[in-house]
Amino acid sequence: MPFVSDSPKEACGVVGVYLPQEEAARVTFFGLHALQHRGQESAGIATVNGNGIEIRTAMGLITQAFDEKDVSKLPGHIGIGHTRYSTTGSSDICNAQPIRSVGPNVEVALGHNGNIVNAAALREELIEWGLHFDSTSDSEVIAHLLANSPGENWTDRLDHVMKRLRGAYSLVVLTNNAVLGIRDPLGVRPLSIGRLDNGGWMIASETCAFDQTGAEFVREVQPGEAVIIDANGLRTVYQRTLTRKPAPCIFEHIYIARPDSILDNKLVYNSRKLMGAELAKEHPVAADVVIGVPDGGTPAAVGYAEESGIPYGEGLVKNRYVGRTFIMPDQRLRDMGVRMKLNPLQELIEGKSLIVIDDSIVRGTTQRQVVQMLRRAGAKEVHLRIGSPPIQHPCYLGVDFPTRRELAAFDRAVEEVRQLVEADSLGYLSVEGLLRAVGTTEQQSCLACFSGESPIPVQLEMDKLAFEPQ
Ligand code: SF4
Repeated sequence: MPFVSDSPKEACGVVGVYLPQEEAARVTFFGLHALQHRGQESAGIATVNGNGIEIRTAMGLITQAFDEKDVSKLPGHIGIGHTRYSTTGSSDICNAQPIRSVGPNVEVALGHNGNIVNAAALREELIEWGLHFDSTSDSEVIAHLLANSPGENWTDRLDHVMKRLRGAYSLVVLTNNAVLGIRDPLGVRPLSIGRLDNGGWMIASETCAFDQTGAEFVREVQPGEAVIIDANGLRTVYQRTLTRKPAPCIFEHIYIARPDSILDNKLVYNSRKLMGAELAKEHPVAADVVIGVPDGGTPAAVGYAEESGIPYGEGLVKNRYVGRTFIMPDQRLRDMGVRMKLNPLQELIEGKSLIVIDDSIVRGTTQRQVVQMLRRAGAKEVHLRIGSPPIQHPCYLGVDFPTRRELAAFDRAVEEVRQLVEADSLGYLSVEGLLRAVGTTEQQSCLACFSGESPIPVQLEMDKLAFEPQ
């Protein structure tokens, strides 16, 4: 049985590269490397050259999936890449991306971040058209739709496709002579454009990919917008009319995005620090030191400490080299999971009252183990503060939380969650405090995992393995 991490599973990372004079695969590789936190199950790169589109995918981290030789076997100055965590479809090489589809007029390779809520119906329809599916992911539905949609140009094709798709999709699409970046009308998942100083362009899920490759952040792809980059440069090729306000995922600010990325023109690190400051105002408590559960809780712990005047300390040291699919054959070893990842600094903790900041609580098992670990290290009191409201609902738009019943805050009051995690006190950030920290409003964000009110109607509990053979 694989080691089950208690953190929410990230979505996916996508990269698109257009380099007029250089090979695109290497820059794509480095872009994916910066986005590794968004998915660790599989990685893939596609490039286009005189022989058409070539794709290589493999299971594991980008550095496990690709070596120097693999990258050099992907010639061409246009490329896309994808790093995957499965939100629809199993963790299997058949579901690794980029995914190819060949239509009557166009061949595409596609990388997708998000989740399509009407994928089952669209897939049925495409099968009736005579199309064959090699994977069980919703992303192949989008690839087939794009390659087989009517229209002589991308504006017409995208009009057809974006009218049909419901859900979250930030896409990079490779054609024989261009790369496209496409973002759903709600703008649920992020997607940004960067400029390289050699005249090249990049599209990426997060701006940290630009920092790693030396690109300059230009702007975000707007909700409902599709941009194309080809020999004529970058331009908007389609803009879907928005029928409601965009609803970008607020959980990107809390947990998913890297702290050095810019989302909605704000540095994620600063938003997280502000979440900590809001938390200090909402849930003050007397203590000796504030510590964060690394890495997610660290910026909010710094913000809490600054606001409260209680010193900040690094009370937990993280081992960064623990894989996510480590085999844990029995319960005793599974319990070791958190101890393998985190080690308390006894000298800083012993005899102290601690305020411990984490970004979120999913099942609560990690937090309980952290509290137990800190008590064993001699903590006098452990006051847990969480930089998000209680997660009470699953996400249908690209983040893999467990089922509702497995969520610690499902059907439990805050006091009951406190008992579950065995803390001396527990305080969650309010929705209002979160919105203030991110500088947004309820009407302009997705908050569905806290409120249950999805920006897109979702009729049934979607199963991520819905397309697997029974
Ligand atoms: S439900 Fe939560 S995790 Fe999913 S898109 Fe909305 S805010 Fe993000």
